[in-house]
Amino acid sequence: MYKVVKCFEFEAAHQLINTHTDKCKRIHGHTYKLEVELSSQELNENGMVLDFTLMSQQIEELVDDFDHVLIVKGNEDQILMMGEEFLYDTDKRQNHTIIYLKEQPTAEYMCRLFFDYLSAFNHFPITRVRLWETSNSYAEYIKD
Ligand SMILES: [Zn+2]
Repeated sequence: MYKVVKCFEFEAAHQLINTHTDKCKRIHGHTYKLEVELSSQELNENGMVLDFTLMSQQIEELVDDFDHVLIVKGNEDQILMMGEEFLYDTDKRQNHTIIYLKEQPTAEYMCRLFFDYLSAFNHFPITRVRLWETSNSYAEYIKD
């Protein structure tokens, strides 16, 4: 199995209402580090799983949308803006300052969202998404 991993960073604020930690209930920020892993049994005609540059272009669009925003759990009306399964409707992509998610924006949930979004819209052979919230804490979503 061949694997390639590309890393990205973005700065964002979030708020976790349902938590035992008082600090997390406040709006606070992280320098998130996102790792996206693609896997393949075979290499393509260029000897790659996928060109790193092509991988970057697609994922950076998503990362840019999450850079310097506030990420919170939204209500029904706000969630409609995002589309059913994914973060938001790509046709309605604009300069968001707040991104509303269906669930509270834990690192675990954001991993799953990034995984589903990138898998569906880019058809990348994604096998793992890891999101670092601090220098010693990350969550992962791995393809079954
Ligand atoms: Zn946090």
